[in-house]
Amino acid sequence: MSEDCLFCKIVAGEIPSEQVASTDDVYAFRDINPAAPTHVLVIPKEHIASAADLGSRHGALVAEIFEVARRIAQNEGIGDAYRLVSNVGAGAGQSVFHLHFHVIGGRELSWPPG
Ligand code: AMP
Repeated sequence: MSEDCLFCKIVAGEIPSEQVASTDDVYAFRDINPAAPTHVLVIPKEHIASAADLGSRHGALVAEIFEVARRIAQNEGIGDAYRLVSNVGAGAGQSVFHLHFHVIGGRELSWPPG
């Protein structure tokens, strides 16, 4: 756990969240400011600042994150059309520096994003 990390505090239960899924290594919860009818954040329980900090040692963890995201999308009824995105760096819109993948769906999604 990294002190002063919002998502570490959510994993630890120190800050409330609406849990959607939890495994040994991965936690998923609803975004507090949803951008679509389904907007869930999938995060590693371990503190990793962003996708830029991932390496080959994280292979199993990344696979589990994508597996959890797929299960969530299926459970939410959006398994055939959803966006799975991770912003890297403030300039790309990252505001919380604990790796997270947004699972977004339930409405028409345009491309490219802003
Ligand atoms: P990003 O801007 O890509 O770093 O995404 C961070 C996301 O975290 C945003 O979509 C926020 O709405 C969301 N967020 C911030 N604080 C909370 C919280 N306490 N519970 C749930 N989602 C949060």
